[in-house]
Parts: sequence; C-alpha cells; structure tokens
Amino acid sequence: MTVFYLLSFVLGTCAGSFVQCVTERRLKGLPIGGRSRCDSCGAVFHWYDLLPILSWFMLKGRCRYCGADIPKTSLLVEVLMGSMYGLVGYVYGLSFYTVFLWTVCAVVVSLSIEDIHQYTIHDGYHVCLILIRVFYAVINRERVFILFAGEALVVLLFIFFLAKAMQFLLHKVCLGMGDVKLLGCIGLFAGIEGTMLVCFLASFAALVTAGILKENKIPFGPFLGGALFVVLTACGGMVYCIH
Ligand SMILES: [Zn+2]
Repeated sequence: MTVFYLLSFVLGTCAGSFVQCVTERRLKGLPIGGRSRCDSCGAVFHWYDLLPILSWFMLKGRCRYCGADIPKTSLLVEVLMGSMYGLVGYVYGLSFYTVFLWTVCAVVVSLSIEDIHQYTIHDGYHVCLILIRVFYAVINRERVFILFAGEALVVLLFIFFLAKAMQFLLHKVCLGMGDVKLLGCIGLFAGIEGTMLVCFLASFAALVTAGILKENKIPFGPFLGGALFVVLTACGGMVYCIH
C-alpha cells in the first residue's frame, strides 16, 4: 500500500504539472501542444528542467537560462495535486473509484486555476464533470443515477433563483453563473444533501480565506471544487452514505 501511495503521489505531481501547463496555455491563448518555454526569455526547457517539484528546487525557483522567477504557484499546484492523488491512492488503493477521483481532481484544479486568474469557469469544465459522472454511472451500472440527475436539476434551479434573488436584493452579483452551473454539477455527484455539505464547507473556507487575505471578492470555484473533493474522498463510493 505504501508503494502505491508513493506512486499515486508521483503521478499526482506529474498530473499537476500537466494540468497547470495546459490550463495556463489555454488562458494565454497559446497552442496546447509543443515544448515548454520560459515566459521571460523563450528558451525551450529540457526534460530535466521539467521534473515536478524536483526541478523547482534544483533550479532554486529560477529559469536556468535567464534567471527569471518560476512562480511558486507551479510548485504549489504540483505539491497539492500530488497530495490529493496520494491521499486517494492511500484510502482507496488501485480501484476504479480512485481513477474516478483522480480525474475529478484534475478538472477541479484546472477550473480553480482559471477562476483564480479570470473569475470565470468555462462551460467546458461543467461538461467534463458531467461526462465523468455519466461515465462512472455507466461503468458501475448505477441504477440510482437518475435520482442524482433529478436532484442535480433541483439544486441547479434552486441556486439559480437564489443567485438572481441575491443580485436583485443586494444590487451586485454574489454568485456568478459559472458557480451556479458548478453547483448543479456537484448535485450530480453528491445529491441535494451532499451539495448542502459541500456548500457549507466551501462557504466556511471561503469566508475564513477572505478574512485572512482581507479581500472582499474571492473566486468561489476553488472552494466548491475543493469541498467536493473532500466530501467524495471522505464518503467513498459516491455519497450514498449521506442519503
Ligand atoms: Zn528564461
């Protein structure tokens, strides 16, 4: 189990490096394919400059060619995803649920990066989450999936009208449509009760973070995605235990 845990961690760091690279290239409007380059001097990185976590420390967080800073966020994402993958691998071993959670984790981290940079969540992320959930249901021949679909619709409509009501009463957008759709997707994974738990955890974490950072406006997507990951990992085998 220890070996699998370590392998899961290493896989997570590689996935983190990949997810970050693809997401940032998409946000900058660059082609997804091609070799990685330094943002400052344009030098092409060799494979030994791109080893997750290790290269950052070996290069002391600087480009080998021009000395420009390599953002600490790239190290953070690799450590974060390595830890998430490692935790899932440790708890669930080599199983379909583990692969399912790893995939959800990659989408959640990617949409979090976008939300942090642009305060938006592209519809493609919602589509990915729905497809992953449907694929999981089909493989497991999950008969209760239709109940999840129904509850997701209820969640989506409720949150949509709640967001509109808050906008009308407070004269400002409190919950963006990207978050509303994300909550609908979360309903598909966790049902109504699971989504309430995700909302509670995410809101609590967001309020604490906003207080620490002394910010009035912070992206909510990372907190929702993080809370979904926590609930799915803690409850296992989807959120049937909550029902
Ligand atoms: Zn450089």
